[in-house]
Amino acid sequence: MQLPDYVLRCLETLKKQNIEAYLVGGCVRDMLLSKTPHDFDMTVNCPPETIQSIFPKTIDTGLKHGTVSVVIDSHLVEITQMRKDGAYSDHRRPDCYYPAQNIHADLKRRDFTVNAMAMDASGAIIDDFDGRGDLAKGVIRAVGDATVRFEEDALRILRAFRFASQLAFVIEPATLSAALQKQSLLQNISVERIFSELVKCVSGQNPQSLEPLLKSGGLSFLGLEFCRPLAPLTRLPDVREVRFAAFLQLCGSDPQAVCTALKTDKRLLKQCVFIAQKLNAGLPLNKETVKKIVFESDFQTARYLLLLYDVLQNRAFPFPEEIQNEPIFLKDLAVNGRDMQALGIEPTRISTVLRALCEQVHQNPKLNQKQILLQLAQSGIEK
Ligand code: ATP
Ligand code: MG
Repeated sequence: MQLPDYVLRCLETLKKQNIEAYLVGGCVRDMLLSKTPHDFDMTVNCPPETIQSIFPKTIDTGLKHGTVSVVIDSHLVEITQMRKDGAYSDHRRPDCYYPAQNIHADLKRRDFTVNAMAMDASGAIIDDFDGRGDLAKGVIRAVGDATVRFEEDALRILRAFRFASQLAFVIEPATLSAALQKQSLLQNISVERIFSELVKCVSGQNPQSLEPLLKSGGLSFLGLEFCRPLAPLTRLPDVREVRFAAFLQLCGSDPQAVCTALKTDKRLLKQCVFIAQKLNAGLPLNKETVKKIVFESDFQTARYLLLLYDVLQNRAFPFPEEIQNEPIFLKDLAVNGRDMQALGIEPTRISTVLRALCEQVHQNPKLNQKQILLQLAQSGIEK
């Protein structure tokens, strides 16, 4: 793969300053898989302050971890000093970092063989742990002793399942067995980090990779259990709300409880709760139900819900496109709040009455005429 111009220029600038620089991690892995990397990370044998003095535009993305981002043509390149990790005491982060004298020490601290390769400006690959062999075999394998590596940083346990899902790889047996053996350490990881890995996992090509962890109870502390196979997720679009809501459904989880435990954003929580409520309500699938769902949410959510009925409940119902030209929302009604007020309906009841009218109009769009709706509202008051 041809490196983008801004990456080449970055490498050249560093070379001119006699700095040893390599592309590392995900971008090398993705290029070897002939995928386009979403970003380019580099490692160098100098401290971030030196990088700041060389490039006119930099952003301090983590100076104390030895990282600085360089801005070139409005692209960001994250540059980290080659480093070795100090001891780990919290199962998440090393207590400190030491500068590493060479690239080999830096690669050794990385999580998996496929993520532990470096590439220099000439395109030569440094691959101390046979990452290329594992890429060819489709294997996620820890660098070094998997048990030790997961003890050091338990987030790696979840990362193993995430990469297996994203790349459609299998986790090498010793790595998998260490991940399951050390699963209880996941409780030391911040729920935000867990959530971010889980979303990537369920959005990947092979979300069923996560099943062993669910089956062994590794995520029970978050209200996530193995209940049904996860393969159906791959039939859903890669939309966070849809995949995650479906994942919770397949785990038989309470979306409110799980989203709260994971401190997800409110939007995701609301969407997952709404989707679960509709999926579990046993609604008959017909045009009126779809209109009601659109009324309560929006067209896109209703389309996703129909897909979920199909994928999760084997109930296929094509989206009734014609409803786009039919009255659905309160604003589509031939009457409004002022009309209701004129009828003498108490202000506190107006929205209830309008909603009831809307429901009738969903059943029969022909009712959406001012005189008819006024009569209906009137007879509602008299009842
Ligand atoms: P993505 O494509 O999702 O960004 P990535 O491989 O680039 O995948 P990052 O989380 O961006 O993953 O991390 C960049 C690199 O840093 C990884 O490829 C890996 O070499 C190393 N790394 C990241 N997190 C860890 C960790 N917890 N333990 C060890 N090495 C890690
Ligand atoms: Mg990355």
